[in-house]
Amino acid sequence: MKRIGIIGAGYTGLSAAYTLAKAGFDVTILEKGQYPGGLAGGFTMEGSNLEIAYHHIFKTDKDIIALAKETGADTNLKWHNSSVALYYDNKLYPFMSALDLLRFSPLSFLNRIRAGLAVLYLQKIRRYKQFIKIPAYNWMLKNAGKSVTRVIWEPLLKGKFDQFYNKVSMAWLWARIHIRANSREKGDSGEKLGYFDGGFDVFTQKLVEKITKYGGKIVLNNSIKEISVLPDKTIQLEASLGNYIFDCVIATTPGFIFAELVKNNKNITPTYIDKLKSIDYLGAILYVFSSSQEISKYYWHNINDLNSPFLVFINHTKLIDKKNYNNKYVYYVGAYLPHSHRYFEINQNEIIKEWEDYIKKIFPQFDPSKINQRNIFKLKYAQHIVDLDYLSKIPDYKTPIAGLYLANFSQIFPEDRGTNYAVREGLKIAEEVIKTVDGK
Ligand SMILES: Cc1cc2nc3c(=O)[nH]c(=O)nc-3n(C[C@H](O)[C@H](O)[C@H](O)COP(=O)(O)OP(=O)(O)OC[C@H]3O[C@@H](n4cnc5c(N)ncnc54)[C@H](O)[C@@H]3O)c2cc1C
Repeated sequence: MKRIGIIGAGYTGLSAAYTLAKAGFDVTILEKGQYPGGLAGGFTMEGSNLEIAYHHIFKTDKDIIALAKETGADTNLKWHNSSVALYYDNKLYPFMSALDLLRFSPLSFLNRIRAGLAVLYLQKIRRYKQFIKIPAYNWMLKNAGKSVTRVIWEPLLKGKFDQFYNKVSMAWLWARIHIRANSREKGDSGEKLGYFDGGFDVFTQKLVEKITKYGGKIVLNNSIKEISVLPDKTIQLEASLGNYIFDCVIATTPGFIFAELVKNNKNITPTYIDKLKSIDYLGAILYVFSSSQEISKYYWHNINDLNSPFLVFINHTKLIDKKNYNNKYVYYVGAYLPHSHRYFEINQNEIIKEWEDYIKKIFPQFDPSKINQRNIFKLKYAQHIVDLDYLSKIPDYKTPIAGLYLANFSQIFPEDRGTNYAVREGLKIAEEVIKTVDGK
């Protein structure tokens, strides 16, 4: 029975651990955080588990749906009606259907048609290779026009990628639009989004339960500091709770963190380290609050205002019944930002003050005195930058060290990172390890 170490208990690590433990390997996950689930992990909001960052899945998310079924979490997976609004020039506009676009008055009628045709084209076209080397911003300027780009796409790209907004590959945007368009099933009246009753923690706990049932272990609060190879070719992980020795290790951390862990090994070259560090990441700030006030009738709000300190406002209890949260409405406010942004330094009350002032601008009826619980989360690596050279930057699963693998969300392309793809990567890397061990 081979000893497999997995660094990170996010969905990539948990899915890999589940598959390997089920296949009979001796699996140990070492996680630096206090809870499993990684970016999809949760906290207690109004007595219930809730994700620190807003999460839902689409009907096209086949891998996570299949694993939920296999582990028994699917009985909690429910589909809910989505609703989307776009905030532009001091006004909220419904933004869900072709009809909404036709009525979208910030654009001239001709530009509304142009915006619709550009999206329709991307929905229909199946091949993305032609888009890899084209910036999404430029593609939209050329094909949807200046006004459409300024009103719709530029604020979204800037909100998601900050200063990298005009460097992001059109292949990434194609995937978002194309996959989303195909996520409606026959008979669905509108878009349906998946959420686990009890939160994503239900799925996380099912995975933990199965891993443990098959003999696997998960050690939390245990940060890996260094990876080294011992003379007998086994791999040693130096962790905050001691040293561990494995025959095989899968790291699920971002590349730049992995680079720090392996850099002192003799067959790790500066070129390999440079490649790992070549992918830029943005962090994210999430403000989650509960209130006795219903602030909006929509679930998802894109804030298309370049002066806004945040990109999205989400009315979680528009999707999920508020009875789960002591009958309070639950809201997320989110922004993707570079690590150097002052929000990563300043006191959370300052962020709350600035953001609440802005929420009041969008929703004049918003009353902060109705807020019951406030939480701020600062995530260090939340979104990687999928630029024009991205394909050449993606690190291989196999590393220069035999038996050491890297599987993280930067390897997903052209799709955006998401829980579905974390599960897919986890299952794929586990199969790869099983194949190698079996000598296939
Ligand atoms: C704001 C936001 C909103 C999102 N919304 C959605 C959504 O609606 N739907 C969706 O499907 N996906 C969404 N996602 C994406 C989704 O959360 C991720 O794609 C997925 O959870 C990534 O899983 P992972 O295991 O690859 O990475 P992570 O979840 O990042 O897991 C990596 C783990 O490694 C651990 N680790 C790092 N360094 C070390 C170390 N040195 N030692 C030990 N452990 C270490 C980390 O603590 C972490 O737990 C969202 C993400 C964000 C940030």
